[in-house]
Amino acid sequence: MSKNYVIGFPRIGEQRELKAVLEKYWAKELPFSEVNAVALELKQRHWEYQNDAGIDCISCNDFSFYDNMLDTSVMLGAIPKRFKGLQNESLYFAMARGDKERTAMEMTKWFNTNYHYIVPELEADILYKLDANKIIREYKEAKAFGITPKINIIGPLTYLGLSKRIDGGDVYGLYGKIIPLYVELLETISTLDSSVVVQIDEPIFTKDLDTKVLSLIKPTYDTLSNAAQNINIIVSTYFEHAKEATAILVHTPIFAIGLDFLYGEENFDSLELLAQSGKTLVAGVVDGRNIWKNDIEKTVALLGKIASVMLSERVYVSSSCSLLHTPFTLKYEEKMDAGLKNWLSYAVEKLGEIALVSQLFHEGKESFNSYELELLHANKVANISRQTSARIHDKSVQERVANLAIFEREGAFEERIKLKKSLLGYKNLATTTIGSFPQTQEIRSARNDYKKGLLSQESYELEMKSYIDTCIAFQEEVGLEILVHGEPERNDMVEYFGEQLNGYGFSQNGWVQSYGSRCVKPPFIYGDISRPKPMTVDWIKYAQSKTQKIMKAMLTGPVTILNWSFVRDDKQREEVAKQIALAISDEVDDLQNAGIKIIQVDEAAFKEGYPLRKEKIVAYEKWAVAAFKLSVCSAHEQTQIHTHMCYSEFNNIIKTIEAMDADVISIETARSDNRLLKIFKEVGYKQEVGPGIYDIHSPRVPSVAEMVCQIEHLLEVLPKEQLWINPDCGLKTRKWEEVKPSLINMVEAVKIVRERS
Ligand code: GLN
Ligand code: ZN
Repeated sequence: MSKNYVIGFPRIGEQRELKAVLEKYWAKELPFSEVNAVALELKQRHWEYQNDAGIDCISCNDFSFYDNMLDTSVMLGAIPKRFKGLQNESLYFAMARGDKERTAMEMTKWFNTNYHYIVPELEADILYKLDANKIIREYKEAKAFGITPKINIIGPLTYLGLSKRIDGGDVYGLYGKIIPLYVELLETISTLDSSVVVQIDEPIFTKDLDTKVLSLIKPTYDTLSNAAQNINIIVSTYFEHAKEATAILVHTPIFAIGLDFLYGEENFDSLELLAQSGKTLVAGVVDGRNIWKNDIEKTVALLGKIASVMLSERVYVSSSCSLLHTPFTLKYEEKMDAGLKNWLSYAVEKLGEIALVSQLFHEGKESFNSYELELLHANKVANISRQTSARIHDKSVQERVANLAIFEREGAFEERIKLKKSLLGYKNLATTTIGSFPQTQEIRSARNDYKKGLLSQESYELEMKSYIDTCIAFQEEVGLEILVHGEPERNDMVEYFGEQLNGYGFSQNGWVQSYGSRCVKPPFIYGDISRPKPMTVDWIKYAQSKTQKIMKAMLTGPVTILNWSFVRDDKQREEVAKQIALAISDEVDDLQNAGIKIIQVDEAAFKEGYPLRKEKIVAYEKWAVAAFKLSVCSAHEQTQIHTHMCYSEFNNIIKTIEAMDADVISIETARSDNRLLKIFKEVGYKQEVGPGIYDIHSPRVPSVAEMVCQIEHLLEVLPKEQLWINPDCGLKTRKWEEVKPSLINMVEAVKIVRERS
């Protein structure tokens, strides 16, 4: 068997071909046969890329029209009852996206990535049955193309662990129904060839597992290994260490275990056991979820450490996870500065790195021909240039971070709030919104035209200001109390700040699949971060000059900026967060000096950065809270700091939220009733809270009575002195016709409640 390995490859296509064809099919502009044709072309092209790069272990069934978890549900016959009567692609896409009569299945984040999977909805009385057609078809397609692929499947324990029971039972209670289907699947696969490699993904093994799940590992992998003699099973894990599961898996007859050595260094502790067991190790050493060029010599040194414990011929060199989480190819980055581009590597480029690392590790430099020697040399030069570049290393930023004193705000919350209530003069149940207002087509075009140089700065500013005027007039008319400028100048809450910070880079084609056909293009942090000049002050100052009411300024917080970017790998995240925080704290200071009294620092993605392992949570919380506090430490006692988070499940992290010490936090609550708010009361949370009182994800306009009722429910949980009233976040995604009546009703509802009490 072979020696280098790719866990999985992105499928959306280097020009997002799959997205284009799917969306046309959904719009009924194309028949499904067209989607199939494009899909086959993509699969073949991706196999070819891997084959050409010299990858030995190439996957099939890593392709999906929407999501691999959804594929697994279809494979197991785990079809929720509401989809009865549908078949094939109509069934598949109805499950993914819903249709006129049926709601879509829930979607949620795949571990700590920005990829979202479709959550299986399981119940005891569905007839689970195997449908292996997709797998067989992809295997045969690969064979026809001239490749003998490994077959990727999602493991039963991960599948169950990530699903939900809609009949109230325990997900692992269905173990007995699912395992026989996996056995049947392997029996079917065993007939495909004289011998077949099956990669069974069990990323759930990188989380803290309870004893029940741990106790299922051995029986599962004993059973699956015995299903067919001609199958080699590789259990693949990624994103963290899998120490506990590894200790069990070595006692099963599987062929190999995949471990991530970049995001789970603790996997080194498992090497002795692996060595004794005689199993093969698929060593994840080339970063599958970042965009930096690999440092080949450093990686080979890391492999050397592994080989000091186990036989090198039992070590396959692999991506750390599926390359799905990285953009496709640098080929289309035509506009990117050449120096910067030379530090990067996307999925296609990573293939070459894996092959090179593997060759250097397994066969030594002696085996290199002159071209390969050149590649190795170029890699070294690129890495040295990155390590020493003046563009990355900014002494003044580093010194500022190194010399940071303790960063606490002026005054304790109790003192600050008294001062502010009198200075700002807002009432109980003060009304506000989360920042953005509907982004009209005109606004988007103006921003785009300005970027492309088709619109002069002057005209652009005039247009934005006129939109701000509209937003202010609207808020005054509706009767909101704390106003916002509406964020027309922002395309995205991270990109907007990234574009104005030194140390940030942007790609043209760095798309990464987020869910279904949707992709995101995260900016990347390559160097020390600094703020050459104020980023938001002119806009907010303008907005404040147009109203007597208080204008709340909007910033994005350091943790969110970090969590929604590709981050440099030559510095601790904590350090990078501090640099961003300093830039934001300068902005806070400039805003207050410009007369702004309330500043909201959004931490929409604070929770997303949580580590998979409990043992690492304390450290994350510590630096994340510190970064937030640093970003607002410049605020004077009389400046009110708000923050915002896009969720309401705070049960496990309420103390951390409290430690951030924001004066006001607005959260997204409308869809989760007030149950989750109780935690604020239970822990005696002191600061003020603005729970979203209506769901903005639907075009529906809630009535006054409904909102009165909602506010009264809130008052059962938190006292009026502590409550702000606002909608959920995301008004920018709605139309003015929907926003207007809803906000009028919200303000009216507050009036009624105030009069009653
Ligand atoms: N201030 C931002 C807005 O209102 C917050 C966005 C978010 O919560 N994701 O659009
Ligand atoms: Zn939000």
